Amino acid sequence: MTFKTSRFNLRENQSTGLHSLGIEGFNDRMESHPWFGVGHSLNSNAAKDYLARLQETTHAQPNPYCIYVHVPFCASICRFCALYTRAVKGNADAIFDEYVQWLCQSIETHPCAYSNHGPTTVHFGGGTPLHIGLDRFAKVTHSLKKAFGSSDSCEWALETTTSSITPKVADTLAELGFKRIHLGIQTLNDDLRTFNRRHETGNEAIDKIRYLQQQGFLCSADMIIGFDNYSDAILNEDLQRLYASGIRMFSICELRLVRHKDLQSSQHQEQSQRNYQYWKQIWEFMESADLIPIHLGQFADSQESNLYFTHPARGENCVAIGPYAHGSAGRLYYSNKLLPAYYEAIKMGESPIETAVLYDDQEEIILNLEREMLAHRVTHKTIETVLFAYPERFADILDFWQNHELMLPAENGLSWSITREGSWYIGNMITQIRDMAVQPVLTHERAVRMYKQ
Ligand code: SF4
Repeated sequence: MTFKTSRFNLRENQSTGLHSLGIEGFNDRMESHPWFGVGHSLNSNAAKDYLARLQETTHAQPNPYCIYVHVPFCASICRFCALYTRAVKGNADAIFDEYVQWLCQSIETHPCAYSNHGPTTVHFGGGTPLHIGLDRFAKVTHSLKKAFGSSDSCEWALETTTSSITPKVADTLAELGFKRIHLGIQTLNDDLRTFNRRHETGNEAIDKIRYLQQQGFLCSADMIIGFDNYSDAILNEDLQRLYASGIRMFSICELRLVRHKDLQSSQHQEQSQRNYQYWKQIWEFMESADLIPIHLGQFADSQESNLYFTHPARGENCVAIGPYAHGSAGRLYYSNKLLPAYYEAIKMGESPIETAVLYDDQEEIILNLEREMLAHRVTHKTIETVLFAYPERFADILDFWQNHELMLPAENGLSWSITREGSWYIGNMITQIRDMAVQPVLTHERAVRMYKQ
């Protein structure tokens, strides 16, 4: 079984050490584009022009949008991390100053800036955004507010580690208007935390969660399943302790401990089977705690809006700021250049977009289904639309999903639900519908083979 939704794969070349100083090494791409293989490619300048034209034509009534800001720096690199980030130590002031200088310029010259509507949410990810230092972080925040505006309802959020949180940091974040903090907990087990280069103990992490909540922040916890020496007892204890500390929004990723080329190996198959058992355990816990799936690998209670992660389900655009940030606008999906090409583009007044695709009507139908599947809420109307566009191909797929209990109609007849099994195989399900759009439907045997990998 392959859980195609996991974010983390062991770094192939960098699993043991810190990275060099400076911005060397920032040219390695760690993840594939989520839309790879579908859509019509646009070059960098054409994508920038598309954004500018969209901004002009929708100036009076723009689509709601969120902002994602990528900060690709960390104090050290956790063993499991495959995100676009590097450890920066030593001469860090110069590196961070340079980053903030070009980032602020990219914000203030962005084609989507200075509209008459503010964002619904601004989300800082990375990396560890606070690693650039509080003053620089505040400078970026002010630059965003100046160029894009803000409002009381805008949810300012950031991803960080508990070790970055101090009373001074919490006060500054509150003054800047931040409401939500996504904490990279991964596990509370101290042996695993030490091995994975986390800087605080599980108890210290829990204390920080409680402290942040007392200060009025919404806290969510990122967890990873499948470390070496992991067990169902560790998972259970992590879930119980985090829930007891007040966490009501969990984001959970599976760690693969094999390299991509070894995905067929028996070691991978065994690990995948083990992780699947953990996944079942997570679902049982979430059901008993009344937390519902809201997005890929994420569970929350019904009070949790979590605006950034759920923006695609509301059809919102996303303005991407920073190297390797991904954005969307209308039918355009794009990804920014990596460092140092990102700096160079901003410096020269050129497009910072590296690659982009534009969807057509047919593909948009698939994309819409995909967005609803990721949000675990598929409407009957969407199913009917896809069936109308791809009558035989999608009917076969729908039969396959129902027969294998991956997605089932709700009793009210108005919607469909991704099941627990479906949430594990959702990457495969999305591959099936994308294949449906670009090539003949998968035969039943081929689909079964794909799910067994
Ligand atoms: S702190 Fe987060 S982004 Fe940085 S290396 Fe660890 S997991 Fe990756």
